[in-house]
Amino acid sequence: MTEHTSSSPWTPADAEELYAVKTWSAGFFSVNDKGHVAVRPIPGSDLEIDTTEVIDAAVKEGCTFPLIVRFQDIISARVRRLNLTFREAIAESGYTGTYRTIYPIKVNQLHEVVAEVMEAGKEFNLGLECGSRAELMATLALISDDTLLLCNGVKDHSMLTLMLNAQQLGQQVLPVIEKYSEFEQLLVLADQRGLTTANTPKLGVRVKLSTRGSGRWFESGGSGSKFGLTVPELVKLVHELEQRGASDSLELLHFHLGSQIADTQVLRSAVREIAQFYADLHKRGVKVKFLDVGGGLGVNYGGSYGGEYENVESSINYGLKEYANVIVFAVKDICDERDVPAPTLLSESGRAITAHHSMLVMPVIGVHRPDSPPMNTLAENSPPVVRRMASAYKEAKAVRARGALTEVIHDAQEARLEAEQLSRLGYLDLESLAQAESLYWSISREVLRKFTDLNLSPAPVEQTELETQLTDLYLADFSVFQSILDHWAIGQVFPIMPLDRLDEEPVRRGQIVDLTCDSDGKIDQYVSAHVNKSWLPLHDYRQGEPYYLAVFLVGAYQEILGDAHNLLGRAGEAHVYASADEPGNFWIEETIKAISIKDMLSTVQYFPSDLDRRMTELIRRKIETGVVKPAEGMRILNNYTKRLEDTTYCDTEVIRRVEQ
Ligand SMILES: *Cc1c(COP(=O)(O)O)cnc(C)c1O
Repeated sequence: MTEHTSSSPWTPADAEELYAVKTWSAGFFSVNDKGHVAVRPIPGSDLEIDTTEVIDAAVKEGCTFPLIVRFQDIISARVRRLNLTFREAIAESGYTGTYRTIYPIKVNQLHEVVAEVMEAGKEFNLGLECGSRAELMATLALISDDTLLLCNGVKDHSMLTLMLNAQQLGQQVLPVIEKYSEFEQLLVLADQRGLTTANTPKLGVRVKLSTRGSGRWFESGGSGSKFGLTVPELVKLVHELEQRGASDSLELLHFHLGSQIADTQVLRSAVREIAQFYADLHKRGVKVKFLDVGGGLGVNYGGSYGGEYENVESSINYGLKEYANVIVFAVKDICDERDVPAPTLLSESGRAITAHHSMLVMPVIGVHRPDSPPMNTLAENSPPVVRRMASAYKEAKAVRARGALTEVIHDAQEARLEAEQLSRLGYLDLESLAQAESLYWSISREVLRKFTDLNLSPAPVEQTELETQLTDLYLADFSVFQSILDHWAIGQVFPIMPLDRLDEEPVRRGQIVDLTCDSDGKIDQYVSAHVNKSWLPLHDYRQGEPYYLAVFLVGAYQEILGDAHNLLGRAGEAHVYASADEPGNFWIEETIKAISIKDMLSTVQYFPSDLDRRMTELIRRKIETGVVKPAEGMRILNNYTKRLEDTTYCDTEVIRRVEQ
């Protein structure tokens, strides 16, 4: 990486470097000449959209913040890319089978997202996967007769019935057996329907492999995992089918290593393991058609491939091509070796298809600086600890060598500790404590400035500590718990950057905090070219001037995992399509309103009519007892009622001083 030096003027290219855009954006996002984030949603086309123009247009259409902006074309681009990459791997290896993507809708069930995936997947024979009854009900109505629909997850009586009905209608719906009892139930249901050997239900099996996954979700695979049949159970199931003369009904073998597979070693081993099972079954006449390698194709959120300071679990060390190659070549090798026909390969890639298409836009609504204003000059009779602090400050201003700076900051830290102790014991008055604190922050800023000027590599511990202490808290209009739950839950890192002012050097160190009153409602890991990832370089915030930050790669899992902490709830959405015929190269196809206070409250059993009745009653009493005049009371009541229609997030109007 080339460090920006102050000798050359700051350019948008420097911003692109700083926020490591090239490493996480998969080619979709960049910084344009105006210093705005731009998106090219259609690979191979130079159609470019300025995201700030999208925000303006969305606001004109009534959207509020936080706002999820979906670039629908990116979904199709990802579907195409995945399928074309597999086609390439198949052609290069001479594999005689084919490949199909199965989209697991749990990653993002929004109807429009699923519809986009299916539309783009038509020419590739894309299928769907569901993992619960509600998901099954949604997908059953979407699929055509040649769409493969796989059903994972726990399957009860009613789910199995739905699947058998679908098979009866001629739909390609396969229950993927995860527990032996599901298989037994399926047979009971089939018998009740009088299904003969010829039409024993079609099914797949998830197998527990001895290969364990890696990365954060490794528990999903391996013999200790929650799902899948053990090898003896698989053999028992095959015997049972053979006895019924229905060995053809076993159509699919499946494993799932867990999401965000960190490297391809483990994947190769798992694919080889299941391919051997497949070959064995073929040899004994059980002609399985599909080999399903599950999900786990990773997305590079961390923007970097490991390294000491990187969040390794947010990164992956392989590309799409390597992923496809590993699978295709491993299966081909074994099929060649064992002389069995090549199965149709399936991957249940969810994250890799939807992560890139959406970004969360949130305005900054205030900045808090954790330091204090300089105090008045020292009084003659200041307590010794304050005088010590004052002389440390003088020292800080005088010195510039590394050793001396370190000494000064240590002195200041000690004096601060002492001042706090004295204050607790009642030996230091409030005024003096304030003076000591204020001097401490001045020293810290001075020392940090000088450390930074020295440009030491690696930076001394003291410098890194000061950087973290002296960050500004940027309050943004969003909720971590609603919109990037994985950041809170598992420390997932998401790329974040301003959408605007990127032609201007971001000179502040910022940490982003949300609207919730939860101390966990903050972002404490960032993607940037800086060594220290605990803060993000941001611009000076100018009160009253919009400053939008965007969180990228939030299209997988986040929206549906999000919760209603502090009753903030669902954000608004704008669905954007690229088009060369439109001004700005885009049009907004649809907007979805954020949840209203009224609807949010109803989910926890506060109903508008009841709230209204109670407030009316309260105000009536206040009027009767003369606390407020009737007109005033009505104004207060009307304001309350009107607010129920608002969204749950902040209004971004700045409260201005009334001119007298
Ligand atoms: C969650 C899940 C997936 C999707 O995994 P991604 O990592 O998002 O691709 C696929 N298959 C099964 C069985 C799953 O549980």
